[in-house]
Amino acid sequence: MRAHRFPGIKAVVQPQKVNPKDVRQRRSENIDGDFFVDHTCIDCDTCRWVASETFARVDGMSVVFKQPNCKEDRLQALQALVSCPTGSIHTEQPPASADLLEAKNSFPIPIDEHKLPGVYHCGFHSLESQGTASYLIIHPQGNILVDTPKYNEGLAHRIEMLGGVRYMVITHNHKDDVADPGKWSKRLNCDRVLHHQDVKASTANVEIKLEGNGPWSLASDVMLIHTPGHTEGAVSLFHKSLKVIFTGDHLIMTKLSGLSILDPFSHSVPKQLKSVEKLLELDFQWIIPAHGRRFEFKDSQEKNSMIGEFLQKKYSQISQT
Ligand SMILES: [Zn+2]
Repeated sequence: MRAHRFPGIKAVVQPQKVNPKDVRQRRSENIDGDFFVDHTCIDCDTCRWVASETFARVDGMSVVFKQPNCKEDRLQALQALVSCPTGSIHTEQPPASADLLEAKNSFPIPIDEHKLPGVYHCGFHSLESQGTASYLIIHPQGNILVDTPKYNEGLAHRIEMLGGVRYMVITHNHKDDVADPGKWSKRLNCDRVLHHQDVKASTANVEIKLEGNGPWSLASDVMLIHTPGHTEGAVSLFHKSLKVIFTGDHLIMTKLSGLSILDPFSHSVPKQLKSVEKLLELDFQWIIPAHGRRFEFKDSQEKNSMIGEFLQKKYSQISQT
């Protein structure tokens, strides 16, 4: 599969040309030591939020800026290694198998046990979905998997131990670039949910095809909101009790550019901005996107003012073109 570079963050400097046989070699921008990133990084940002003490961005790609020197940082660096969709993170010395196993077994990881109880990051980002982050929501009316990680049997077992999955929500589907949805749904015996306008060959037999404009209810306090624009069938999952919205690629947060709608990959920017307007009516404090960083607003007022400012900026850009 041909990986595209992550479009949400503009490269400040064009990545240097590297001889194809050297792409798996250490980038010179890494600091000396065991961990390093090679030249195949697609700038998806995952390692930089999974292990922010170790990884940073230099010239449009990740690098190790500080070698992990305590147990916690080393575990996070190995969690990043496990989650890197392109397998671009390496160690000079093979990690002890017990350490690697601990990193793998740590997924799914609770995001914040106090503020977002029952929400887990699944790790194991897949290149098939360009590094989408997948989340598990524990819910008394049936657990929900939001998008899919790379298939991993150990992860499937641990998800099962957390009560399994009732619904697998595929937030959107561009060109059949969803990671193993059939394999996961078969293994977890759950219903895949996808808007019919995003159904493609590999998702033709999804169990629940959403029709119309919604919203659709998955539980008493969980609904799917139709947010077309990025794709025609894009949906966002709104969890009212936790005040969190899982936006897929509809609205994301990047470290460099703040809120973004991933314009270069938008099916229709005007339509997407209309869908962003819908978010002003919902009471949430967290955005959890498929790419980029989770973000907590101070309160609903800050949420609306930041989204409002973003919309204003985008509409004025459009009017000038
Ligand atoms: Zn997308």
